[in-house]
Amino acid sequence: MNCPVCGGRATGKVGASHYYCWDCCVEYRIDKEGVQVFDIDEEGSLVSFDPGNEALY
Ligand SMILES: [Zn+2]
Repeated sequence: MNCPVCGGRATGKVGASHYYCWDCCVEYRIDKEGVQVFDIDEEGSLVSFDPGNEALY
């Protein structure tokens, strides 16, 4: 499964349908609705990914 953000393959499974991308440090979830991407903040909580911040990665 390639990362939906960077298209890279440095991803790992972290839950039932949760994946983590080591390149952009985001977590994403895949279900029949599509792909949801989450950022991880300094405290380790998941927050909605804002594509406007993509330049930070
Ligand atoms: Zn990525």
